[in-house]
Amino acid sequence: MTKHIFVTGGVVSSLGKGITAASLGRLLKARGYKVMMQKADPYLNVDPGTMSPFQHGEVFVTEDGKETDLDLGHYERFIDENLTRESNFTTGLIYQSLIQRERAGDFLGGTVQVIPHVTNEIKSRFLRIEEQTQADVVITELGGTIGDIEGQPFVEAMRQFRKEKGAGNTLVIHVSLVPYIAAAHEVKTKPTQHSVKELRSMGIQPDFIVCRSDHEVDASIRAKIAHFCDVDEDCVFENSDCPSIYDVPMHLAKQGFDEKVCQKLGLEPRERDMSDWNDFTDAMHVANSLPEKTRIAVVGKYTQLPDAYLSVIEALHHSGVYYDRHVEIKLVDGEELTEENVDEELAGYDGILVPGGFGLRGTEGKILSANRARVNKVPYLGVCLGLQMAVCEFARNVAGLPGAMSSEFEPECTYPVIDLMPDQEDVTDKGGTMRLGAYPCKVVPGTLASEAYGEELIYERHRHRYEVNNAYRKQLTDAGMIISGLSPDNRLVEMVELPESMHPWFVASQAHPEFKSRPTKPAPLFREFVRAAIAHHEGVDRHDVNPR
Ligand code: GLN
Repeated sequence: MTKHIFVTGGVVSSLGKGITAASLGRLLKARGYKVMMQKADPYLNVDPGTMSPFQHGEVFVTEDGKETDLDLGHYERFIDENLTRESNFTTGLIYQSLIQRERAGDFLGGTVQVIPHVTNEIKSRFLRIEEQTQADVVITELGGTIGDIEGQPFVEAMRQFRKEKGAGNTLVIHVSLVPYIAAAHEVKTKPTQHSVKELRSMGIQPDFIVCRSDHEVDASIRAKIAHFCDVDEDCVFENSDCPSIYDVPMHLAKQGFDEKVCQKLGLEPRERDMSDWNDFTDAMHVANSLPEKTRIAVVGKYTQLPDAYLSVIEALHHSGVYYDRHVEIKLVDGEELTEENVDEELAGYDGILVPGGFGLRGTEGKILSANRARVNKVPYLGVCLGLQMAVCEFARNVAGLPGAMSSEFEPECTYPVIDLMPDQEDVTDKGGTMRLGAYPCKVVPGTLASEAYGEELIYERHRHRYEVNNAYRKQLTDAGMIISGLSPDNRLVEMVELPESMHPWFVASQAHPEFKSRPTKPAPLFREFVRAAIAHHEGVDRHDVNPR
C-alpha cells in the first residue's frame, strides 16, 4: 500500500519546503523505496506557465510537456526521477475541471460546492500518481503557508484523505520558520506555535516539525516546540541553512529524520545507500573552495532573481563539479548591455550563456553577447531564446542579412530568421499552448552536439513558439553555420553550432537541456560548454579537461 507524506509550510513562504520534501524523497529512495512527488499550488492560474518569473521564478517543464512549479525541478534533481503532468496541480486546474463537468451536466440537479466537490477533486489528485506509478511513497507538498485563505480546501482535503487512508499510512510534516531575534540572542518558537495552532484548528495534527532557521535550533528549543505543538520530541528536526541545498538530505539524515519517517509509516528500515550523492556533495565542496574560478556569464533579464534561471544555474553547477572545477556564475542584465559597454561588461568571462526568455526587453543585449562570444572565441551556449539570438547575430553579421531578427519581436522585420512555427499560427490561447515537453532530435554526426550527446537520437524538453525560419537555412549554412540537430522529419532546426575552424565551442539548442540535468548526470550540452569554458580559462584544449 502506498504511503502518503504531506509537507506543509508555516509562518512564511520561501522557506525551502520543496528542498525539505525533495531531501526526504532522496533519503527514502536511497533506502530502496520507490518515491514520487507532487506539488499542490493553491493559486488560481491553471498552471504557472502564464506567470512572470518575477512572480514565480522559473517555469519548470516536465518530460510530458506540463509547465510546472520550480519545485518540481528540485524534486527531479533530488530523487532522480522524471515526473509527469500529474505532479503539479493548482486551484485553477481543479476548478477548471469541475466547471467543465458542471457544464457538461455531470452534477445535474446538484449544488456544486467546495466541500465535497472541490475537496473530492483534490483528493483524487492526491491519489493519481499513486495509481499511475504504484510508488511506495508519494510526497505531496502543499504550496503557500498554513493560514492562507486559498489553501484551506487543500488542508481540508488532506484531513479527509488522512482519515480515509487510515492510521499509519500518512504523515504530515510541517516545515516552519524559527526566526533568530538578534536583540534577544535567541531563536523564537512562538511563530511556529501559532502556525501549528492554525493547522490544528483545521483538524490536522502534524507528525513532524522541521525547523527552518538561519541559526542553530538546539535540543532545548526543539523540546519546547514539541511540548507546545504536541509533537513527539524525537519528531522535531533542525534544518538550519546549509552551505548548499544538496547538503540538506544528509543534514536531516544525520538527525535520524528518514529513519523516524520509516518507523512512523511502518516501512521496514532498509539500509540507506547515499554513496553517489555523498560523492557528489564531497566533490562539490572541494570544487567550490578552489581559489581558481571559471567564470560564466548568464545574460538574462531577471538578474535580481536567480530563481528565474534556477535549472540553468544548477546545470552549470553540476557540470563544474563533474570536472572538479569551481564555476562561478554571474547574472548579467541583457538590457544594460550596449555596443559601448559590452566589452567591459563581459570581460573576464570564460563562457557566455544566453538562456530562454520571452519579450523584447534585453534582446539586443543578448544578440551583442552572442556577437562578442563569437568574435572573441569565448565558449557560447544558447538555450532556446539563446539559440534564436545567436542565429540573429550570425545572420546580421556573417550571412549578410542586416537587421535580421525574430518576428516575435519585430513582426515587420526584413529578415525574420526566427519565425513562428506553423503549428502555432492559429493558436490564440496563451496557457499551455507552446511546443512543450520532450521531442526527438536527430544529432548530426561529427558535430560538437554529437560529441556532447554521443547518441544519434536524443530527447530534450521544449518551451517555445518560434523556430529557425527554414527560408534562411541555406543562407545561414552557406555562411558557415552548422545545423547539428534536426527534428526527425527535418522540418525543425533543433541545434546549431559553429565549425571548430571558426570558433572553439559555440553551440545553441532550441530545447532546454537544463531541465534534465541531475547532480550526478549533468546535461550533456551544459557539461561540454563548461568543459570548453574551463579550457578557455586554463588555456588548454578542451579534451585535456577531464572529469573527476
Ligand atoms: N520566446 C521564444 C519563443 O517563444 C523563446 C522561448 C524560450 O526561450 N523558452 O520561441
